Amino acid sequence: MGDNMKMQDAEGSIHAEIHLEDCPYCGGPGLLEEENGWCWYVVCLDCGAQTAEMAYKTTEDRRAAARRAGELWNMRKVVNAAPGE
Ligand SMILES: [Zn+2]
Repeated sequence: MGDNMKMQDAEGSIHAEIHLEDCPYCGGPGLLEEENGWCWYVVCLDCGAQTAEMAYKTTEDRRAAARRAGELWNMRKVVNAAPGE
């Protein structure tokens, strides 16, 4: 756990290290999504609820932003609950 991360990490590692709780609305699975290379957010695959977008500017920032999006989700700070369609 305390090991320093290597500088270059595989694309999948960000997803692997961030644990997402179930959706606060419907209990569905949360998915960490990246938007056009500038931000991360978490969206529910079942009801479409999602967190705010966590923007980043640099590669280092990118990982931190992904983590923040995961934290928002896990704190149930979901800003947009799409109505069921
Ligand atoms: Zn949901």
